Amino acid sequence: MGKAFDIGLERLVGGGVGEPRNNEAARLADSPSAAGSGTFYLETFGCQMNEHDSEKVAGVLLARGYRQVESADAANVVLYNTCSIREKAAQKVFSRLGEYRLTQREGQTIGVLGCVAQQEGEKIFSRAPWVSLVCGSASYRKLPELLAQLEAGNRRVTGLDTDTDETFETEVTRRDNPWRAYLTIIEGCDKACSYCVVPFTRGPERSRTSASILEEVRQLADAGYTEVQLLGQTVNSYADPSARKMRFSELLVAVAEVPGIRRVRFTTSHPRDFGKDIVEAIEAVPAICEHVHLPVQSGSTKVLRGMARTYSREEYLEKIAMLRAAKREISLTTDLIVGFPGETEKDFQETLSLLDVAQYDGAFCFKYSPRPNTPSLKMADAIPEEEKSRRLAILLEKQREIQRARNEQLVGRELEVMVEGKSKKEFQWSGHTSSNKVMNFTSRAQESLGDYVQVKVMGATPNSLVGEKSETGS
Ligand code: SF4
Repeated sequence: MGKAFDIGLERLVGGGVGEPRNNEAARLADSPSAAGSGTFYLETFGCQMNEHDSEKVAGVLLARGYRQVESADAANVVLYNTCSIREKAAQKVFSRLGEYRLTQREGQTIGVLGCVAQQEGEKIFSRAPWVSLVCGSASYRKLPELLAQLEAGNRRVTGLDTDTDETFETEVTRRDNPWRAYLTIIEGCDKACSYCVVPFTRGPERSRTSASILEEVRQLADAGYTEVQLLGQTVNSYADPSARKMRFSELLVAVAEVPGIRRVRFTTSHPRDFGKDIVEAIEAVPAICEHVHLPVQSGSTKVLRGMARTYSREEYLEKIAMLRAAKREISLTTDLIVGFPGETEKDFQETLSLLDVAQYDGAFCFKYSPRPNTPSLKMADAIPEEEKSRRLAILLEKQREIQRARNEQLVGRELEVMVEGKSKKEFQWSGHTSSNKVMNFTSRAQESLGDYVQVKVMGATPNSLVGEKSETGS
């Protein structure tokens, strides 16, 4: 959802917790060219990739001398980073753009970024003529050029090319979390699942070089970050474009070995490219978190074929068996879609039975929603909305009970937690375990956010653990 803050490059490079300083950022802050007087407001919707794209977009603007402000009213440039995962996303974007129009000041620039920008393209200018910039994520590397054109007085600029082999790397990234840094290592997707807009909106797969990723991780560690999350729509399809040809599992190990890094996460993995070498990396290196998000989408091979997921139920379950046999206990989460065109009651029952076998620790469950520019849009045998809702409710209830049982098995164990929040209630704190479970815990000590503590699990709900900081805790 929308994020707002008021920060300039001088704060970004100012040092201290949450304000990492790196030499490049310092050079930019000290440079006369950074002395711009513009302000920008950036609102973000959608997935983690979008959130992180916004951090980089903010970095591009800060490096040009813009200052980030917390309301659209106060900004010279209003940017709206959009998501098209939901049906009718475009209508919602236009209605939000309508709200911006009502408050638009003379000379204020409004820009649309992200998946809806890519999907709707220049049509946005005809439906919302007050918009000046339309740019999809595959063209973000052109943002400095597009901003320069706007600053020179151009009325309308676009970046809509998806035919690219370049990734979006920035000199400065404005990160929102002071301990956990997100890092996109692969952009786009080549998988072409029949229901998904990503190959259309984000373009083909492009990986960053391992050297550039590791350099950024070293800078992050120097700046005080202890956890990095490697991001990609299909993160484990990573293919190092440099001569080094580092495999994804080798990259995980190399990132985990950077001094100062205590936790490495990665998401989202595609089952087809998920090999034993990744499990072996998790087994061998404690800093690689014991959590894998492996979307299955359906338990029926017939539906998986319709979705063009490139694996069968049996092949997916082989991956699950491999993960469950690992020497470390790895928590598993997934994504599921109910009501894909042609999904029969038997297919749905196969999804339910897959939950019994997989025993997921968490699942994001959705009703199928037809999306523009996707092959499944034209598929026959649409499932009525009420039936989709019925199936979703059954699925959620079943998964809830599985999660409850799995979390209850952890009662009595001691787990490491990164302290991420303090409750209004006295002595109550919260954070995540290496397995990515939310832990709400009691501690009478004055904990520091970002620290790691040992917590004994005292109770469990389907969505979180309840604990007490161990006397022996770090
Ligand atoms: S793997 Fe499939 S669902 Fe995931 S981003 Fe690529 S096309 Fe979309």
